[in-house]
Amino acid sequence: ASHDHSENCIFCKIIAGQIPSKKVFEDEELFAFHDINPAAPVHFLVVPKRHFANLMVTTSADGELLGRMLTIAPRLAQEQGCRPGDSGGFRVVINNGVDGGQEVYHLHMHVMGGPRPWNKN
Ligand code: 5GP
Ligand code: ZN
Repeated sequence: ASHDHSENCIFCKIIAGQIPSKKVFEDEELFAFHDINPAAPVHFLVVPKRHFANLMVTTSADGELLGRMLTIAPRLAQEQGCRPGDSGGFRVVINNGVDGGQEVYHLHMHVMGGPRPWNKN
């Protein structure tokens, strides 16, 4: 696990275009890109452009930004091939800290989907 600060953060570098990625979406405050090691037929990450290590350093002042990460997920998931409606769908996951299985310390939301089975969980 890495606890790097933002000046040495791999996802900050991806957002800045200093490390290549397969972009899914970008606006003023969010960036989304395909996971380099997909765990599902559709697997991309939604990240705030502002560097937060994880949810544990966010506050209620960040609620609107965090809400946008969630509410954009179904639109992007469908654009990436997840089937709409309750017979399709997708999973969202945010890992926080060592006990949460976090490996990259820039807040990111996994969006995973595609026709099952694609994992055991
Ligand atoms: P975490 O365990 O921190 O929630 O997951 C980090 C995710 O970032 C992993 O699924 C991993 O495959 C992905 N990842 C790590 N480095 C890179 C990278 O350089 N580019 C992309 N596109 N994904 C990455
Ligand atoms: Zn960062």
